Amino acid sequence: MALFATTTAGSLPKPAWLAEQNKLWPAWKMSGDALAKAKLDATAAAIKLQEDAGIDIVTDGEQSRQHFVHGFLEHVEGIDFARKVEMGIRNDRYKAMVPTVTGALRLRGRVHGAEAKHARAGTQRKIKFTLPGPMTIIDTIADAHYGDRVKMAFAFARLLNAEARALQADGVDVIQFDEPAFNVYMNDVSDWGIEALHTAIDGLTCTTAVHICYGYGIKANNDWKATLGDAWRQYETTFPALAASKLDQVSVECRNSRVPIELLALLKGKDIQIGAIDVATDDIESAEDVAAVIEAAMKVVPKERLVISTNCGMAPMHEDIATAKLKALAAGAALARKRFS
Ligand code: ZN
Repeated sequence: MALFATTTAGSLPKPAWLAEQNKLWPAWKMSGDALAKAKLDATAAAIKLQEDAGIDIVTDGEQSRQHFVHGFLEHVEGIDFARKVEMGIRNDRYKAMVPTVTGALRLRGRVHGAEAKHARAGTQRKIKFTLPGPMTIIDTIADAHYGDRVKMAFAFARLLNAEARALQADGVDVIQFDEPAFNVYMNDVSDWGIEALHTAIDGLTCTTAVHICYGYGIKANNDWKATLGDAWRQYETTFPALAASKLDQVSVECRNSRVPIELLALLKGKDIQIGAIDVATDDIESAEDVAAVIEAAMKVVPKERLVISTNCGMAPMHEDIATAKLKALAAGAALARKRFS
């Protein structure tokens, strides 16, 4: 790959003809076969949008999932979606009505097979697919079967592994696990969180990544960030454990973030997807803004190890703003390539 290859955290806004816009749980605009076809059309459109913007490693834009966790859970047997209980999520940052695990977990077939094959057939570029991480999944679902949340996490990790292996066989180049919960349950990360990811990546030869993050730019997350103080040092606990892990890449929020950039040095030996686009504001970054994040990261991470990305997913954003931000990302990486090659 060229220096400063670009990608996104994963999700993009959905078009108005597919789903409600600017929502984290958008309702689909159709159902059945029409919905299945529309999801593939939206996947192709998302890839074209990224190609036109100049993004090197493209994603399906998560156009086929209503939500980044439940898009996976919908395909799992052993979950009673009618049995909803209220649960505090991310250590009570928000309350949500979540479904309950009531039996042994099993995949009901492929999760992202259709869109992965469609994406592979539709682009020459490298493709990244995202899956929710085991710790984040069990933080978003109630348990009435396993009686032990870590045991349940490993049960999910085995299902994730089956889908990840199938995605690799579909021709996916990068598989990324989204673990916002890694920023909340810091001790669990080294106790069992990374081991669960190792189960999820077992046998993979493609590039593997974990996205740890401070969340979408929604109010509950922005309010929480305001309580974290001037320097976000959560990563000081988790980066050394991630550096010792078998994962290839770590995706970290860097633009407008209070993560002290020198903490990236704790990820020695890993490739780092640095977030150079803030998804919590509608202000469009300039190419200089993006290049400035790259320049700061280069002081602590060898430049060959940097992949340039967004801070987090763009699902709830306005389409035109997300598009402008993708272009800024590519322009900033191009500027940095010219300046620092
Ligand atoms: Zn994120």
